[in-house]
Amino acid sequence: MARICNFNAGPAALPLPVLERAQAEMVDYAGHGMSVMELSHRAKSFMAIVEQAEGNIRQLMGVPDDYDILFLQGGASLQFAMFPLNLRPPGQAGAYVNTGSWASKAIKEGKITGETAVVWDGKAENYTRAPRPDEIAAPAGAAYLHICSNETIGGIRFSDFPEAGDVPLLADMSSEIMSRVVDVRRFGMIYAGAQKNIGPSGLALVIIRKDLVARCPETVPVFLRYATHAAEHSLYNTPNTWGIYITKLVTEWMLDQGGIPAIQQANEAKAAALYAVLDGSRFWRPVAQSASRSIMNVCWRLASSELEERFVKEATAAGMEGLKGHRSVGGIRASLYNAVPRACVETLIAFMGDFERRHG
Ligand SMILES: *Cc1c(COP(=O)(O)O)cnc(C)c1O
Repeated sequence: MARICNFNAGPAALPLPVLERAQAEMVDYAGHGMSVMELSHRAKSFMAIVEQAEGNIRQLMGVPDDYDILFLQGGASLQFAMFPLNLRPPGQAGAYVNTGSWASKAIKEGKITGETAVVWDGKAENYTRAPRPDEIAAPAGAAYLHICSNETIGGIRFSDFPEAGDVPLLADMSSEIMSRVVDVRRFGMIYAGAQKNIGPSGLALVIIRKDLVARCPETVPVFLRYATHAAEHSLYNTPNTWGIYITKLVTEWMLDQGGIPAIQQANEAKAAALYAVLDGSRFWRPVAQSASRSIMNVCWRLASSELEERFVKEATAAGMEGLKGHRSVGGIRASLYNAVPRACVETLIAFMGDFERRHG
């Protein structure tokens, strides 16, 4: 078996024990004589999978009882459209923090169906940092304050989250969900596409306070209401059954690792080792300002795009995939999600030492 080191930004690395378990259960799941993909979504054993996935998430993140956990389709991108429709009544503005590519997409979508107010924009500093909590005030009367807690493309994150008072704080946590301890109570809603840290693509996890679920106006199509999916426990229509099953296995694996505190510690150690190399020589040019450095997506530049291209090419030849920065910004990006083993970070670091000796 040849597993490479996978630094993809998403879809991304999954834990090997999860893939092996899925493989072992593929043809005959729990004595059913069929795979999970072939089970009815109304079968008791599939409903048990949904319940277990939800229970694992509740346990891992400490999700309180007055929050619903939903498994939806359309990825994180559909949420950009769905939360304004559900949570922003006519005449009220949705407030947004613009930290870069993904935050901008949410703003763009939010403008289509109502009023938006951008309360902070990182453009002047080329989106190299997130704001400090004291730089943001949610306007009184805003329907919500939206942030992207970790910008996957720019490689920055909120080290501390803003205080929004009575205004519900909403966060796109796609690229850092369950990578660090977060107090769910501080948020009205947390959502994430699954394909970075918790499963395959085509599945969105939504954690939303029940009073917000109830807010939706009657004018919103039934399928786009959180209330529809909450009432049916994510089984209003045929969900992404395979995605929910893999998420169940990944969250089991996370519990086996010692839960989010242990995973966070491992993630911080992986990122610190890589940033130490980037800070250790002027050959490397880290992109993010130090206070906002992402521990999931580490981005840096080299002296020229030719050198960056060579870096990616040689790394690929040495068994490391996915190091090319996003096409919109260029450079190098190593995504160090939960499932990326420390050993792969060490392999990358050793390769970087060698590359610098040859090209520095
Ligand atoms: C990947 C990503 C998205 C988009 O997710 P899809 O599932 O492709 O819609 C949105 N926000 C962030 C922060 C992401 O990293």
